Order: sequence, then C-alpha cells, then structure tokens
Amino acid sequence: MDRKKRCVSGNFIIRAEREKRLFLSRRIVTESGEFDGGVMVDEDGIIEGILTKESIGQFYSNSNNKYKVIDGGEWALMAGVVDSHVHVNAPGRTSWEGYVTATQAAAAGGITTIVDMPLNSIPPTTTLENLKVKANIAKEEVYVDVGFWGGVVPGNEFELLPMIDAGVVGFKCFLINSGVSEFPDVTPEDLQNTFAILNGTGTVLAIHAEMNIENSSSECNKDNCPDPRLYSTYLATRPDEMEIEAVSLIATYVPKTDVHIHVVHVSSESVVPILEAAREERIAAGHKGWRGGVTAETCHHYLTLSAEQIPDGHTEYKCSPPIRNNSNKEILWEYIKDNRFDLITSDHSPSVEDLKGTNFLTSWGGISSIQFGLSLFWTEARARGFDLSTVSHYLSAGPARLCGLEEKKGALRPGLDADLIFFNPNAAFMVKPQEIRYKNKISPFMNRVLTGRIMQTYLRGQLVYADGEIIGEPKGELLLNYDY
Ligand SMILES: [Zn+2]
Repeated sequence: MDRKKRCVSGNFIIRAEREKRLFLSRRIVTESGEFDGGVMVDEDGIIEGILTKESIGQFYSNSNNKYKVIDGGEWALMAGVVDSHVHVNAPGRTSWEGYVTATQAAAAGGITTIVDMPLNSIPPTTTLENLKVKANIAKEEVYVDVGFWGGVVPGNEFELLPMIDAGVVGFKCFLINSGVSEFPDVTPEDLQNTFAILNGTGTVLAIHAEMNIENSSSECNKDNCPDPRLYSTYLATRPDEMEIEAVSLIATYVPKTDVHIHVVHVSSESVVPILEAAREERIAAGHKGWRGGVTAETCHHYLTLSAEQIPDGHTEYKCSPPIRNNSNKEILWEYIKDNRFDLITSDHSPSVEDLKGTNFLTSWGGISSIQFGLSLFWTEARARGFDLSTVSHYLSAGPARLCGLEEKKGALRPGLDADLIFFNPNAAFMVKPQEIRYKNKISPFMNRVLTGRIMQTYLRGQLVYADGEIIGEPKGELLLNYDY
C-alpha cells in the first residue's frame, strides 16, 4: 500500500549500456545552485556520484576507474523534467494523442517522466482493469517513463485501494463537468466518502478546483448571446469565483483527513491564500508531510499568456480554468518567487482540429504544450531574473515529490535514475508545426520565439533524444507495481 515502495517492473526493460559514464558540464544545475563538475552514472543507469571539478581530477588519476566521458561543455546539465499532468488519451481517443507521440514530444522537450491523467482515454483510469488496459497499450510505446493517476468518479470507491496497490501515483477528481461523459464529477458527499477511503494510505487526491456558482453558466442564453468568437465571452462563463468556491470547499476537508490534497492547474491567484490558510491549519494540527500535505500547481500557459492578447476565434488558447488577465499572471509569478506554488506542469490536453474551431463556447477546452514547457518556463523565468535552479525546483523536484517518486526521479542525487538533460539556456528557436512531435500540431505558442533549447535527453543514462532526433527504440518504463 505504501506508494514509496513503487518499483519499476515489466518484461520490456531495455537496460542501460552496461558501462559507466561520466557526464561533464561547466554548469551542473541542482535545486540549490550551479557548479562546474560531473555526474557519474553506473552500469545500470543510476546516478553514482555528483562530482565537483576538483574531485573529478582524482577520478582521472585513478586508472582503475574505467568510464566513458560525455562532455556537454557550456550546456547546462540538469535533472530531466517530470511532467505530472499529461493527458495521453489512448486508448479510445488515440486520434487526439497517443503514447508514441506524447512521449517522443516529452523526450524532445527534456521531460523524462510523464504522469498520465485518468481521463480522456476510453476507458478512463477508474478501475484496476482499466489501468491494466492502458498499461497494456502503453508498455511497448513509451520513449520516456510513464506513471499513472487513477480517477475518482461516483461509484468507483471499491477500485481505489486496488489501484494504489497497482502503483497509481494518486487520484484525480472533478468538482465540475469534466468535458467527457465517461468521467463524471463528484459531489461533496462523494468527496467525503473518498477521503474516508483514502485516509491513512499516504496517497494524493488531486482536484480540478472549479465549481458552478449561482449566475455562472457555461451556456449562453439564446436571447442574449455575446459573440462566442470573442475570448471575453468564454472568460465571463468561468470567473475566479468558481475556483474560489471549489478551493473553499476543499479547505473544509483539510482538518478532517490526512490525505495529501493537491489542487491542479491553479489559474486564479485568489485561491492560493485560501490553500495556504488550510495548510497552516494542518501543520498546526501536527501534520508532518511535505508542505503540510496541501499543495498546488500552476501551468505554463497561465504563466505565459494573458486574456488581453488572445485573438478572436483562436480556440487553441481555450482551457479550463481559463487564462486570466495580465495582472493575475503577474501575481502568479510573485507566488513563484515567494515559493507559494509547489510545482508547474503542462496540463497537455490535446484534441483533434475538428473539435477546436472558432467558437470559444463549443470548442474543446485544452492546451497542447508538452514539448515546450521547459523552454516556455525558462523564457519567462530568465526574463524575470530567475536562475536554472528554479527550473529544477518547480519542473523536476516538485512534481516528482507530489507523485511519490522523489527517491527515483526529479533531482541530481546518488541513487536516483540518471534521467539527465543537456540544456542550452541561451539558444533561441521558433515554435513551428514541423518541430512539433505531439499528434495534433495545435498550439497557442505557434511562431513564438522561445529561449532555451534541449540538446540531449538521457533516460536512465541512455540517450533518447539528440539534435532534434529521437534515438532508437522506446526505452521508457511504466512506473507500476506489477508485471505489466
Ligand atoms: Zn488536465
């Protein structure tokens, strides 16, 4: 039952290249700083040591140490990104996204682990059997490692503990229509039952925090319908108050459970203080877990885009909760600076072109960005004076921790998987359709010039992406507790 015991198993493991390697860089980046040094990786693709420039000299002088050197020079050497919020959609909606395309896009984007959300595939990950169906589809198709969230929907309470045993990183539920009929939202009563079942398991409940409020409506009134091609029309249907309502409800459960509560994709800056008050309450009551067991993420699109700049009819910008105004975005960045968020994800939620169109009210809500998350974040963060350690903190260590993977992923530390990237923080590139590796080449970032290019991606020490090319066969593993 302990999620920390999760180990990778399976019959399809292609292990590392059975030789030690020393990765060198003038800029080794950890959560706490940068230095000139190296990362020694053992024959099994596990980080053996983090070396300063001086200690590398001692290794060189000992001729018994046989290893291959991979020198990235001025490229930063960092832990691979862990993206804990990705909708892969297979099986069932594989035309929207599949494991091959999603994980190739991830590898090209410096992401070495993705965690798949339980909805938008058919079946959704709401039963143990469904989890196995998805794993079976994924197992031979993944170019990076893949973990799974389970889903909480009305009536699946008996499936939750078996899914924990099978290795899901936690569960996701909605407090509002999810957009797909096979993944219904939960009522406050369902939520109460869920907390009762999950209490004591050490798992996470991740919540889509929007609720309908009086006067809010996702449909426009027939007699008085503002132009649905305008983004402002859509934004008015999902005001901040809907996030506030949901997070206020969530906060009432905090004193009654020890389940780790995580709010996904915070858009409205106004909900963060509500969550912090709930966290304080829990810490005061003696909760010893990470961040008091109350965490929140925001996403690249909320940190990069604002409502004012969204052109009419451009539904590639539509997501829920919605992108809000520029002053809201600036406050989200203040929260990043003040360590008031815990992690940042893509919420890669693709669809086919036919479901987009120009009508903001009827279009599919979801933004595709998995491949560009690291560069999007770095482009904005650098301009605001942040360093690469901030990137490692929010994009690698934070998501790994949320998913109970911190002893395996998300940092440069001996004993962890050698999931590494060489990143050129000064190189610029333009987002073009021909660069995009995810299935449907739809992006609100098209033609944007981004700073920071992923040069090489290594998964457990094995090269999986270099110079714009995917290298070799799929080498990813599923992060599950059973022989899939
Ligand atoms: Zn999502």
